[in-house]
Amino acid sequence: MKLQVAGFLDNSMVNGKGLRSVIFVSGCNHNCEGCHNKEMQAFDYGDKVEINEIMDRIKHNIPLIKGVTFSGGEPFEQAKALIFLAQNIKEQGLSLWCYTGYTFDKMLGSKDNDKLELLKYVDVIVDGRFEKNLTENAPKYAGSSNQRVINVQKSLKSGKIIEFNE
Ligand code: SF4
Repeated sequence: MKLQVAGFLDNSMVNGKGLRSVIFVSGCNHNCEGCHNKEMQAFDYGDKVEINEIMDRIKHNIPLIKGVTFSGGEPFEQAKALIFLAQNIKEQGLSLWCYTGYTFDKMLGSKDNDKLELLKYVDVIVDGRFEKNLTENAPKYAGSSNQRVINVQKSLKSGKIIEFNE
């Protein structure tokens, strides 16, 4: 299975907690004003890459990295391929963060089984569109103050939103 990839960072300190590899997934329809990754909004930007190849690159960064982050672009638009990658990442004992322009509530109400399935593997999401007028007081790891940093597994279990607590 292949993923359309816009970019890859072997290690980053600013895309979630701790040192993490980051995969920038191509394609996004949210069209936020002030988007920093505008070129990545195109669904054909970057390269089609086999999931196994991506996984090999991630494995090269173990044990240096603590986890992997999906960013973009909108990762949930390629949920099917990312489920497979997420399963592999969790098998390595790595934490998984995901940035998304969708709100957590909207995803839970989605009829798209792939999006719901992908959520099962994600530890933390930073949710909601980027709002360029709300950059002051943005939570740590988020770009604007409307976005939330959510502990996905605790939230799914309890049925209410529980924010990530370091
Ligand atoms: S969700 Fe992210 S990639 Fe998509 S338009 Fe908004 S800021 Fe850009």
